[in-house]
Amino acid sequence: MPKSYTFLDLDLVNRPYMADIRAALDRVALSGRYVGGPEVDAFENELAAATGTRYAVGVSNGLDALRLIFRAYILLGRLQPGDEVLVAANTYVASVLAVSDAGLRPVLVDADGETMNMSADAAARAVTPRTRAILPVHLYGRTCWDEKMKDLVREHDLIVVEDNAQAIGARSAVSGIDDRSHNTGALGHAAAFSFYPTKNIGALGDAGAVTTDDSELAATVRALANYGSDRRYHNIFKGFNCRLDPLQAAVLRVKLPHLDAVGKARDEVAAAYLSHIVSPYVRQPLPSVEGDCVWHQFVVRCDSRDELRAYLAANGVQTDINYPLPVHRQPCYVKEFAGCSFPVAERLSDTLLCLPVSACTSVADACEISEIINSYVPGQ
Ligand SMILES: *Cc1c(COP(=O)(O)O)cnc(C)c1O
Repeated sequence: MPKSYTFLDLDLVNRPYMADIRAALDRVALSGRYVGGPEVDAFENELAAATGTRYAVGVSNGLDALRLIFRAYILLGRLQPGDEVLVAANTYVASVLAVSDAGLRPVLVDADGETMNMSADAAARAVTPRTRAILPVHLYGRTCWDEKMKDLVREHDLIVVEDNAQAIGARSAVSGIDDRSHNTGALGHAAAFSFYPTKNIGALGDAGAVTTDDSELAATVRALANYGSDRRYHNIFKGFNCRLDPLQAAVLRVKLPHLDAVGKARDEVAAAYLSHIVSPYVRQPLPSVEGDCVWHQFVVRCDSRDELRAYLAANGVQTDINYPLPVHRQPCYVKEFAGCSFPVAERLSDTLLCLPVSACTSVADACEISEIINSYVPGQ
């Protein structure tokens, strides 16, 4: 039987931490504190320290982190319903759902063909008098932040909400809006994290967080996520229940200290692909420069993508496509974006292929997968 290369096996990813995870789950189970409490507080402090922000607020998942940020800005009067928010056309749908949910208007911006992130030039062209915020999505783990985007933000005084679901631990060459940090999650005014199990740091279920240096925003997000209450049985907002589960906080406290090691391992696999794939039919992603990409996905492009994917599958290599249908083509958004076209995003969804890059993939695996890719000839 030929060797098989799994795309992602979460059981294998979590196995090295399992003794510590079990101990952490046990600790919560025996604590009697099953909502909020010391595990959540400690995780928030550790995440804020790792990110370099003053505040972190644990929440239920990444989508809720984004929704709560936008709703908090509206409650604080810093955004108004109907305001326009610039967001990448090739992102995961959740980024856009959060904007819609808050009653704001998502304005899709096409990707840059090199970085596969939102193009700052296209963002500049999409600005209107109603543009108030921008949502840089650090897609595939690559920082979406450069001098052009920073200039655009300053010129139009935009609120910057980072979607950091895929890029925890990444560092931008360019410092954030207030020049305090280079870390994703600390570049803008607020950031959303997801700890969905497949993310670089994943929980054993849904989990997320908001980071910010803004005490008012942090307090508003925290209250909104807890029925809108600022203290017990006292509700200042019509809120939600979007709290981080202490069991998940305890699991994340085990994994967060390994963030650098996780990034290094992914970087080694990515480097192996980058140096071994030499196929004229396959386009490689840009390399990571000083940690500006943490390789949530390793994304190649091929004109005959579906055929390449089938060829790899026949040779035991599992792959994935993030994402096969752009947001403006999703049934829930076709009407809203009727007549819009985003040629780079559309082409990406037809040609991109995600290769295995998780802890299940060794450098040797990446070299072998590269050889299989190099042996692919279209139409044979
Ligand atoms: C995963 C993800 C989200 C949503 O996070 P959940 O925790 O799954 O709700 C949002 N944006 C991006 C870019 C993501 O990859």
